[in-house]
Order: sequence, then C-alpha cells, then structure tokens
Amino acid sequence: MNVSDSERVATSLAGKGFEITHSEENADIILINTCSVREKAEQKLYSRVGRIKKKYDEKPVIGVMGCVAQLEGETLFEKINGIDFVVGTRAVGRVSEAIEKVLNGENGFTDLGEREADYDWNVADAQRNSPYVAFIPIIEGCNKFCTYCIVPFSRGRERSLEASEIIRQVLELKRRGVKEVHLIGQNVNSYRPETDSGLEMFAGATPFSKLLRAVAATRIEIIKFNTSFPRDFHHDIVDAIDEHENLANWVHLPVQSGSNKVLKAMRRLHTIDSYFKRIDKLKESNRNISLTTDIIVGFPGETDEDFRDTVKMVEYCNFDSAYIFKYSPRPGTPAFEMEDDVSQKVKSERFTELESIQKSLQSTNLKRYINSHVQVLAERISSRSANDLTGHSSCHKIVNFAASDDMLGKLVNVKINEIKSNSLFGELN
Ligand code: SAH
Ligand code: SF4
Repeated sequence: MNVSDSERVATSLAGKGFEITHSEENADIILINTCSVREKAEQKLYSRVGRIKKKYDEKPVIGVMGCVAQLEGETLFEKINGIDFVVGTRAVGRVSEAIEKVLNGENGFTDLGEREADYDWNVADAQRNSPYVAFIPIIEGCNKFCTYCIVPFSRGRERSLEASEIIRQVLELKRRGVKEVHLIGQNVNSYRPETDSGLEMFAGATPFSKLLRAVAATRIEIIKFNTSFPRDFHHDIVDAIDEHENLANWVHLPVQSGSNKVLKAMRRLHTIDSYFKRIDKLKESNRNISLTTDIIVGFPGETDEDFRDTVKMVEYCNFDSAYIFKYSPRPGTPAFEMEDDVSQKVKSERFTELESIQKSLQSTNLKRYINSHVQVLAERISSRSANDLTGHSSCHKIVNFAASDDMLGKLVNVKINEIKSNSLFGELN
C-alpha cells in the first residue's frame, strides 16, 4: 500500500512540474513515507531524519507522509527536529500544496484531511516501480480492528473503489504494456463498492469474487491480489482461480496464530478449524496454489502451549513462505492495554524456532520445483549479475534466469535448475 501511495504522489508531483529524483544528495525536497505497524518501522523515521539533518549543510525540505504522519500529526514537529510538513494517509493528493506552503515560509504545515472527491488514482509509467507490474488499491482502510493493529486508526474506515473504475484502470494499464496487476487492500475480501457498476455481468458469491472474474475478463496476463482476511475468504475465490488462468496461483492468507485462545484475544474472527477448511479448499485446487501467511509470536498471554499450537499449524499448512513478527505493542490499540507479558527473550526464542521450522519446510517445498517449468514475468535486470533477469512466477516466487534485456516485459518459460533460500534459478526454455 505504501509503495502504491509513493508511486501516486510521485505521479502527481511530476505532473505539477517537480522533477523526481531517487537520490537523496540531489533532492531539494525529501518526502518520507512511513509505516507504523510495528515500533521498529516507526523508529526508522526518527533515525532517517536525524541522519539527513546531520549530512547536509544546505537544508532540504523534509515532509513526512503515511501512517506515522496520520497518527502523530502536529506532535511530530515536537518529536523530531527538522521536519517541515506532515501529510496524512488520505491527504496524499495535496502534497504539492503542502510543499508550496512551506516554500512560502509557512512553518509546521499539517494536513490530516480527507481524500478529495476527484483524487487521481493514476500512476504515470515513469513513476511505477516496474513498467510491467502495477498496483491498484481496490479498497482502502480497515474495519476489522484486530486488537494489536494500528491500521484501522492510521488508514481509517473501509472504502471500495467502483468496479467500473478498476476495470477501466486495468484496461488502460494493459494498453500501456503492463502485464501484471495487483489488486490491493488491507482486506480485499471486504470489497464492497457502493454500486454494482462493472460487475453486472459477472457471477460470484461475493462482490470480490465477482470483481476477480470481471478483471480476469479483461485478459490482462496476470492478476494477483492481497491481503485476504481468513474469515471473509469465501471458497468461491478458489473457484474463480480454478476457472481463470490469468488469476495467479498465489494466496496470502495471514493466520497470525495457531491457538484459538490467542486468535480470540487478537479478535481475528476465525478459528484454527475454519482456517484449516480454507487451506484444505486451496490445496484441493487443481492450480497448485502457493500459500503465504503472516504470524505474530509473543502476543499478550501466549503460553508455550499456544506457541506449540502455532508450530503445529505451520506444519499442517506447509506455507510457501511466512512473514513472522514479534508482537510489538502499538499505543492506541486495545492490545496495548493488555500486559505485554511475554519477555523479549521468549519472543526472540519463539521467533527463531518458528523461523527455522518454516525455512526447513519451505526449502523442502522449493526442491519440488527442480527440473520443472514455471512461467515468469521478466521484470528487471538482476542486481547480482548483468547477464541475468529477475521476475516473479505466477505463484509469486522470485525467479532469476540467464537472458538478455530484450526479454524484459515478456512472459517466459523457465526451467528451474537451482534452489536458493528464497528464490529459484533457471534457464530459458
Ligand atoms: N491486513 C493484513 C495485514 C496488516 S499489517 C491482515 O489482516 O493480516 C501486516 C502484518 O503485520 C500483519 O499481518 C501482522 O502479522 C503484522 N502486525 C500488525 N500489527 C502488529 C503488531 N502490533 N505487532 C507485530 N506484528 C504486527
Ligand atoms: Fe489490521 Fe486486522 Fe485490519 Fe489486517 S484486518 S489491517 S491486521 S485490523
């Protein structure tokens, strides 16, 4: 979501005559996009501003956007010396106005206002991270209020984009040579546009599965989506993937814990049994769907037995990869009021143990790819070798392969002959 916001802010600033540079040394204005999901991410902002201030004699203007900006607002000026303006998560369309105010001498400018009705969701080709991959936010905000999570506070309530607008964007991106779109949101399964516009012709048990079929019908090469909230993950989504080859065979379904007691305290609204039902349905698919997840260890009240349940759950699900996080109390969330009673030492031990179990399952999984053929979107020249290209497979694995740059932007067939810890290596077939 943050990458996608950055791309759109760069698009709007470039459209207003600003020249975008990714080199800090050349910048007159530095915009820092922030995340506050865990304390560590927030700490990064403080050290980054400090480092910039120390490094340059000439003062670059520094603006802060994103979740920390939204949550802290004007208090950021007191907390961090050297910031010039603060723009909240829904005010990103007005960054140029903020810059103008600062350049005209206004101090401590803050905009935490709502998104403007005519907000421009487009991203210019030049500002996209990859010319072949585009992110489309289909739903903003979150209404779930999992007890540990700051997102409903930093991103506000859910609001879905009309399907007709999403389809228009996909068709336009396709025309411009984009091969892969990611439909993104904190909980894409909650997708609920105000009208049926654009979905009328499509079947589906939920508006989201209708949307998947509608986007599939544009015939863009690859469609990925995340994040899925397990309780709302309807089995019709798997049916849609089975029906349409261009719906990628990858699902990110964050489970968070293997203990029903902890899941309840987290207010995740699913149980382990209901989660396993969804996993079983995904594994029954004839598409060989790759499964990834997020897990938090050390949530308040998590006992060793609860953690063992998480280990069992990980062994049952056999995820292709898992993002594991140590619980980090976030001020303002309901869990912040609970006693953070799992020590740092135990959190670290559980993290290390789970990570090593997951790594070993993952590497067994990856070995199955040896000598197999995967379709890969050639996205860029590898940073490790100018003779290799890198991209993602439909099952969202990173694949490196020897090829020249005239293959960039093409969907290629790669025969896998080597497994690295988090990626596959192969040759063009
Ligand atoms: N909307 C998604 C993800 C939101 S944030 C979902 O519903 O799962 C991404 C991940 O950060 C979460 O899945 C969770 O694993 C982790 N996370 C969120 N808040 C956290 C906290 N306070 N401490 C540790 N990890 C956290
Ligand atoms: Fe946070 Fe839960 Fe919403 Fe995900 S679903 S963003 S974890 S509150």
